[in-house]
Amino acid sequence: MVATHDVLLIGGGAAGLRAAIAVAETDPGLDVAVVSKVYPMRSHTVSAEGGAAGVIAEGDTIDEHIYDTISGSDWLGDQDAIEYFVREAPRELLRLEHWGCPWSRQPDGRVAVRAFGGMKKMRTWFAADKTGFHMLHALFQTSLKYPAVARYDEWFVTRLLVDDGRVHGVVAVELRTGRVRGITAKAVVLATGGCGKVFPFTTNANINTGDGMALAYRAGAPLKDMEFVQYHPTGLPFTGILITEATRAEGAWLVNKDGYRYLQDYDLGTPTPTPELRSMELGPRDRLSQAFVHEEAKGRTLETPYGSVVHLDLRHLGAKLIDTKLPFVRELCLKYERIDPVRELIPVRPVVHYMMGGVHTDADGATGLGGLYAAGETACVSINGANRLGSNSLPECLVFGARAGRAAAAYAASAGPPPPSVGSQVTDETRRLERDLLGRLPRDDSIAAIRTEMQTTMEAAAGIYRNGPDMATGADTLRELQDRVGRVGVRDTSRTFNTELVAALEAANLLDVAECILRSGMHREESRGAHQRTDFPDRDDERFLHHHVVTRGPDGTPRVNRLPVTITRWPPGERVYGR
Ligand SMILES: Cc1cc2nc3c(=O)[nH]c(=O)nc-3n(C[C@H](O)[C@H](O)[C@H](O)COP(=O)(O)OP(=O)(O)OC[C@H]3O[C@@H](n4cnc5c(N)ncnc54)[C@H](O)[C@@H]3O)c2cc1C
Repeated sequence: MVATHDVLLIGGGAAGLRAAIAVAETDPGLDVAVVSKVYPMRSHTVSAEGGAAGVIAEGDTIDEHIYDTISGSDWLGDQDAIEYFVREAPRELLRLEHWGCPWSRQPDGRVAVRAFGGMKKMRTWFAADKTGFHMLHALFQTSLKYPAVARYDEWFVTRLLVDDGRVHGVVAVELRTGRVRGITAKAVVLATGGCGKVFPFTTNANINTGDGMALAYRAGAPLKDMEFVQYHPTGLPFTGILITEATRAEGAWLVNKDGYRYLQDYDLGTPTPTPELRSMELGPRDRLSQAFVHEEAKGRTLETPYGSVVHLDLRHLGAKLIDTKLPFVRELCLKYERIDPVRELIPVRPVVHYMMGGVHTDADGATGLGGLYAAGETACVSINGANRLGSNSLPECLVFGARAGRAAAAYAASAGPPPPSVGSQVTDETRRLERDLLGRLPRDDSIAAIRTEMQTTMEAAAGIYRNGPDMATGADTLRELQDRVGRVGVRDTSRTFNTELVAALEAANLLDVAECILRSGMHREESRGAHQRTDFPDRDDERFLHHHVVTRGPDGTPRVNRLPVTITRWPPGERVYGR
């Protein structure tokens, strides 16, 4: 059975919903649908805490935000895309205000901004520490205004329909009934978010399994800069739940087991957004996470059952500030650690947080495969290069979600109907899911075992510090796991919310993404941003000032090629802060 729309958005997070609204606004005659494996308000965007960057404060300039983003990216971000992003971000954030997002204010009523890591000026808009929740709510309720926007909530996309270098829709499973269905469209926008679940400790939701990246990769669209995985320096041990950078923006300290602010011993460079803040804690995320590894090596961290930790100290901020500006942090600590940050230290460790790489796109979100677009964390435009600055991602979803939506609308307006061949692709995919996965006899192996092995392999091979031999060993293990995931059966054969089937599909996606991360990493013989190699400790602009693009070879293994980085006004320089 096949349904038809003009434009399909895969994903109901910030990027997907912003794109859906853009399509509906651009051409009200188009029939739009949002497909999401969870109810849209449960998308990972909802958990963003800290805020969204956009130049608005007095004394801040567009050029400074551009420069901070470029140097934060270690000169791997494309400067034309960054310039467009920085100019558009404040407009998008204001638009969101008009759609109902309750930005926190200063006493005089103007929008309040806070400092954020790697930004030299205060420019991060926030809605207390529940920014993602409020943003997603504003987007979701706005999307409801448009009758042209249909929704497929709790539908899992398993395949792109591709013919002759063009995309014609998707195949998806309705999770409530187990029904497999083709949904054709003239244009498809992937907005499926990140892939933190490739690693064992992550701030990411369980649903962040890189599905869109894997769908694009298998359909022949390249992935870009996959080696750059961001660790956030302050996650809770065990759960990986994020303690937002906003804590440090408000003045929290990172201390080692002796209660010493150890960051003063490291060459982080520090931005100085306000004179009263001693802001070494606001260095960029990659450098703070690396400093943790050195403290651990010196025996100055604390051991817990869930690895080494240091402490985040909020006590000197006082209950009033914590309750007004960081209420969610207090709530998370009380619920998940039984710790009250007003009186106690919070144990934290670096955890995988964000994927700089993703589906290769141009500034319109176009992937190179006709009719296929990508936006948000699943895409790589690229504005983040080797290291994303905190609070640039939410506005990226808005700016490039809107632009991809407009481009997809324009494409759909002139594209013809899908070719008859897509019918047989839907039949093939239905057979694969029903016969191969649900019908296969369970073996002495399990999805959970494969996923855990992949995660520990990735932590060992592609953690905060990496080296060639470890990445190569990891890549060999992943090949074996690919073989196992191709043979494993699903024990649960029920049709209603079959979570084991979903886990099997996600594990296959995660493995493809993990292989791309390692293969790209092996090719980049230098240290830049989040990719730090102990065997190549320096940045090497002569050999590596370029993007990596990964495509799937005929034997199913990743092939790595290069693309130039766009440099306009800012020649590569040293990454320094605080000048
Ligand atoms: C805890 C946390 C805090 C953060 N805080 C900040 C912050 O303060 N500031 C900032 O700028 N950034 C922050 N980030 C990063 C930022 O929130 C994300 O990069 C951004 O929200 C991603 O939005 P998205 O629309 O790309 O994807 P998501 O919000 O992750 O949405 C993905 C969507 O795709 C759908 N989907 C996925 N796979 C499938 C499939 N196979 N079939 C159908 N649907 C599918 C999902 O259902 C979901 O609707 C944070 C991230 C985390 C994890």
